[in-house]
Amino acid sequence: MRPIRTFKVSPALPAALEALRPLATNLYWDWSDEVKELFRRLDPDLWEQSRQNPVLMLGTISQERLQAASTDDGFLAHLERAQAELKQYLQERSWYQRHRGTDTQECYAYFSAEFGLTTALPIYSGGLGVLAGDHLKSASDLGLPLVGVGLLYQQGYFQQYLSADGWQQERYPLNDFYNLPLQLERRPDGSELRIEVVFPQRVVYARIWRVQVGRVPLYLLDTNIPPNNTYDQDITDQLYGGDVDLRIHQEMILGIGGIKALRALGLQPAVYHMNEGHSAFLSLERIRELMQESGLTFAQAKEAVQASQVFTTHTPVPAGIDLFPTDKVLYYLGRYRELFGLSEQEFLSLGREQTGDFQAPFNMAIFAIRMASSLNGVSQLHARVSRQMFGSLWGLTPEHEVPIRGITNGVHARSCVAPATQNLYQRYISPDWWALPATAPEWQRVESIPDEELWRIHDRAKVQMVLYVRERLRRAWEERGASQAEILKTREVLDPEALTIGFARRFATYKRANLFISHPERLLKMLADRQRPIQFVFAGKAHPKDHPGKDMIRDIIHFAKEQGLERQIVFVPNYDIHTARLMVAGCDVWLNNPRRPREASGTSGMKAAMNGVPNLSTLDGWWAEADYVTTGWPIGRGEEYTDTQVQDELEANALYQILEEDVLPLYYQRDQEGLPRGWLNKMKASIRINTPFFNTERMVQEYAQHAYFPVSDRWARLSAQGYVKAQALAQWKARLFQHWYEIKIQDVTAQSPKEVRVYEPIGVTARIYLGELTPAEVQVQLYQGEVDATGNIPVGQVVPMTCPGQQGDGYYAYTGEISYASSGLQGFAVRLLPHHPDLSNPLELGLIHWGN
Ligand SMILES: *Cc1c(COP(=O)(O)O)cnc(C)c1O
Repeated sequence: MRPIRTFKVSPALPAALEALRPLATNLYWDWSDEVKELFRRLDPDLWEQSRQNPVLMLGTISQERLQAASTDDGFLAHLERAQAELKQYLQERSWYQRHRGTDTQECYAYFSAEFGLTTALPIYSGGLGVLAGDHLKSASDLGLPLVGVGLLYQQGYFQQYLSADGWQQERYPLNDFYNLPLQLERRPDGSELRIEVVFPQRVVYARIWRVQVGRVPLYLLDTNIPPNNTYDQDITDQLYGGDVDLRIHQEMILGIGGIKALRALGLQPAVYHMNEGHSAFLSLERIRELMQESGLTFAQAKEAVQASQVFTTHTPVPAGIDLFPTDKVLYYLGRYRELFGLSEQEFLSLGREQTGDFQAPFNMAIFAIRMASSLNGVSQLHARVSRQMFGSLWGLTPEHEVPIRGITNGVHARSCVAPATQNLYQRYISPDWWALPATAPEWQRVESIPDEELWRIHDRAKVQMVLYVRERLRRAWEERGASQAEILKTREVLDPEALTIGFARRFATYKRANLFISHPERLLKMLADRQRPIQFVFAGKAHPKDHPGKDMIRDIIHFAKEQGLERQIVFVPNYDIHTARLMVAGCDVWLNNPRRPREASGTSGMKAAMNGVPNLSTLDGWWAEADYVTTGWPIGRGEEYTDTQVQDELEANALYQILEEDVLPLYYQRDQEGLPRGWLNKMKASIRINTPFFNTERMVQEYAQHAYFPVSDRWARLSAQGYVKAQALAQWKARLFQHWYEIKIQDVTAQSPKEVRVYEPIGVTARIYLGELTPAEVQVQLYQGEVDATGNIPVGQVVPMTCPGQQGDGYYAYTGEISYASSGLQGFAVRLLPHHPDLSNPLELGLIHWGN
């Protein structure tokens, strides 16, 4: 029955405990041990039952318990400490203020389809979401004026349970928004703030919820309201659910609705960061605003919009990108096409690699790239792959110059290091160990942590994980209706003394969770060794439609069952942030064996590394740029294969060999005190070397310095005085395009003999026809370097040429000088690029002339 009216009933907090409310609604508790402990102390059982959700807890706690706490001096003192800590955190002078000043007015908007902040808020599916959540947390730590924009899913991502046969089943419990750390944004009169997004033949409404992440607000849109029809109410029902139409609708709400929400909240960000391409439709709405509200033309508006947008790609394979059928794009977004005055093909070409390829679908990554002036991949290897993958958008630009930078991912240290371990770091490294840069001398103090203490703390984390896994399994088996005898067996899974290999992440097939069982004899031999016991813990969800991914889960479970190894090979159902935190701290080795280069970065290994857990991984993503010998073990040497069977064979063998010859011996090599000194060295190296670099504190600083600050400055320049510079830039680009193909590079001469010596200067001259263009509008360069076997210069150095004078009739003489720092076959070329002070970079247009 539908109720006639609904009320939000809040608990009656005694006056002395009123301060609990602001503490519960700021997610700061997720990474503050002080605040988290306060809630746990209030009612330890309820804390666990509520899945560590203080809002739900305060909504369900008994009035007696509250009464008792309100007269407990110890509790009240703790409450005061927690309150003071949050207050100080929110007021602290920040990194941002030190690097950008205190009187700035700017704001940056960060758009993502998923955010993984805390277990209680299940609006994430995996690494992308957790990264977005960690981005917000570190932006808050650094004091960046950032706001997040996303969707609030009524059902979120599914909960996983397994049939007795090991087949993944999905359950979609409803999120009760009123018992989550969410606040509805309201108008001054108390009514819900709503935004409207125009769909064909109707308007879809959304309301806005706020999650306070330390100092950073995250705004989440929710369409589950009247007067939306039931289909539209379900647009924000599930993360990555539904068909392609629903997907487009979600992305319209995220991108277009997100911009509307920012405006409804009175925000005019200077920077719009698209975390993956899902939000890229935001460009359409921003162009519309500038055309209709500021009177710009489409070309001018596009210039301004592009100048203020940042795009981060996360997908190293074309199959991972959203591709939308063109008829649907035209149907759902045709309104923008009409407003912009573009033909259908012109409009669609915004999302096509080859603008003339009328068959190609609309590619959201290409669209995002075309609409951003700052682009990056999420590790150095992934940036290289992206430059290759998208390089054709920059025409004849050499691949290494394609302007897609690598900003390597990180993790939020205080969210993923076990509390007891953090305590250790505070005592031995520094109270603010998490904020120290890699160059800080304090990191050497890791060596001063007594081996015995580190081992004991790790041991505790391991026991905690083992108990947690048993409890999870017991509950899961009870729910499945397993026999009492079977349920009793869950008490015996995993041995806290055995070497424990952990693997937990999404079950996407390229991650090859089942690689370790590919040669059963070899694995069984290891598992049978009573002297040196080894065990494996797995967790992860497969996308509901990914049957091969589900097969992998079942294969592992079947294998364990058939071989009678259910104590030694364990699959923990329903992977989530909480499980992740316990596993990355409690395992001894973190295993990762994706097919290079498919793992753009990967972050769970970083979480393990920070907990002192060495990684065992193929050289993909972040691990390829880590010190993989000192802080773990590499599988292979970074080879890439076209034959996946050969690859699996070779890499499985390498995996077994490293386990047999390196990992097991080192782990079981104990001294008289029973300590594995060699192993502990690796643990310490992992903490010392990986923690200060692979964290989001460093990562968000890089985003600030390489993207947010320069993009915001450029936006300020281009938008000033009614967008005069954006208009001028659009006009100049039109002029440049008109005359670009008239340019000719002629008569290139080098005054050099065939043989030159190292460092011997060589003068070069060229005669260049610029026609209508002037030397100030172009830059002419020498591109010099080693010539490879194909006769090309793959990675050249750039030396500017100067123009001493006009020769008449649009011809100009250019001169320059090169010299070579190394011997061998060297060469040079002359090239010409556009030049304008307001371009984001000379390669922005992908225009480049090469002389021959
Ligand atoms: C860190 C994390 C991931 C990412 O794992 P990868 O190994 O990088 O794929 C996925 N899910 C959860 C819950 C996480 O905490």
